[in-house]
Amino acid sequence: MRMTEAIKSMNNNFEIITSPISVQDLVSKVEHEGAGAILLFAGTVREWTYGKRTAALSYEGYEPMALKELQRIGDGVSAQWPDARLAITHRLGDMGIGDISVAIAVSSPHRPQAYAASRYAIEELKRTVPIWKKEIFEDGVEWVEGCHIHETAWMETECREGHPHTHWSDRDRYARQMRFPPIGEPGQDLLAQSRVAIVGVGALGGAMANHLARAGVGFLRIIDRDVVDVSNLQRQTLFHERDAALSLPKAVAAKTNLQQINSSIEIEAIAQDLNAQNAEALLSDVHLILDGNDNFATRYLINEVSLKHRIPWIYGGIVGDVGETCTFLPGQGPCFACLHPTSPQIGLLPNCETAGVIGPIVQVIASYQVAEALKILVKDQEKVRKSLLHVEMWNFAQREMKLPADTSCRVCKEKHFPYLQGEEGESVSLLCGRDTIQVRPKETKHLDLVLLAKELSPLGAVRLSPYFLRFDTGAYHLSVFPDGRVLVHGTSEHSIARGLYAQYLGG
Ligand SMILES: [Zn+2]
Repeated sequence: MRMTEAIKSMNNNFEIITSPISVQDLVSKVEHEGAGAILLFAGTVREWTYGKRTAALSYEGYEPMALKELQRIGDGVSAQWPDARLAITHRLGDMGIGDISVAIAVSSPHRPQAYAASRYAIEELKRTVPIWKKEIFEDGVEWVEGCHIHETAWMETECREGHPHTHWSDRDRYARQMRFPPIGEPGQDLLAQSRVAIVGVGALGGAMANHLARAGVGFLRIIDRDVVDVSNLQRQTLFHERDAALSLPKAVAAKTNLQQINSSIEIEAIAQDLNAQNAEALLSDVHLILDGNDNFATRYLINEVSLKHRIPWIYGGIVGDVGETCTFLPGQGPCFACLHPTSPQIGLLPNCETAGVIGPIVQVIASYQVAEALKILVKDQEKVRKSLLHVEMWNFAQREMKLPADTSCRVCKEKHFPYLQGEEGESVSLLCGRDTIQVRPKETKHLDLVLLAKELSPLGAVRLSPYFLRFDTGAYHLSVFPDGRVLVHGTSEHSIARGLYAQYLGG
């Protein structure tokens, strides 16, 4: 068979269907005269999962990408076992006990290759194909995330393993960075012991997290309130199409992707809004706070935690082709509130929504923030820049601005912390670059999303994921998080968002 024919027939071997799977049809796709063994794997819906009785089950998936992933698995099999042939059919939709949800057939001249190739295909399928399972138990609905095939015991044991075990030494991994004299071996040790919080893991935060994970910062806490959207992919280099297709919380997707970059560091994903109630708990046990968020209220809050707990932080902001960054060391020079005594009125400043934003400015500002971060973490504070840096990419202009020397700032001089005390800070805010409004309850709630799903389902389409509930009213989408926070997609009007919140979740 010529190469092109082989690829063509391979492509026809992958199917996603909603009707029952015929194993006969599947086997016939891989049968050929030279086949000495045909191995068939059938994943079936079982009655019991971890001691709970399953009543029914439903698979949902993002079909174009699932098919693409299946073909990629086929390519992987062809590359490793050129004589093997593979066919996979996955079924979507509702299924009953005993139904086949996925079937994989492999033929090859010899048995060991068939075993190896089918095991590879099963594990890759489980790892990468965006199909997820909703189990309907007798006492409720539950999403089974990630490892969506639980059908056989031997697979379950490996289900949670993210990557193969490797034994790289730190000396190998960080060799080039350690050869840089201001870091060296002592600096690398300091980085390994460092704890850094990144607030907002979109464009700037994602770029910073990427650098710091690669640099070997021992602990990263990534805090983000948003979910990945396709419009993020243009500049938020940490995310993939799959993250957007699954609407994963950015913190969760970032952690998954970062651990693939560096599995030897600790990463904590916090899919929450940073606010007066949680800011001190989330930011006071780190050595450094990095600002990757898009609004002034959160920056004032970070500034107050920084002053109260004497933790340095690095501000960064971007819009259009313009960006700026500044490092604040508590007790040494002015604070963020000295620089901006009052929050600019919403609508007066350009934002990502009105002015857009281009990818390169993200990387430039994030890189400056990370360079300052490395200096602070390796205790080279002398070198920390003591000015506000302003960069305009399109016009190729860059300038440093002196910070105000002496101000009558109530925040750093009088230790007045209005944002931390909850006197300031909005409960309704526009998410930059998105037609999305966040509404946050005054008090943190503990919602039972399964119960809420039942209540809302007569009123519109409801989808439950492991992280939030998605409710479609027709004109708007609501993402409801367990702490009572809601993202209202499809509007930039505060009043509409507030109204929808009151209508579906109470005041
Ligand atoms: Zn100040």
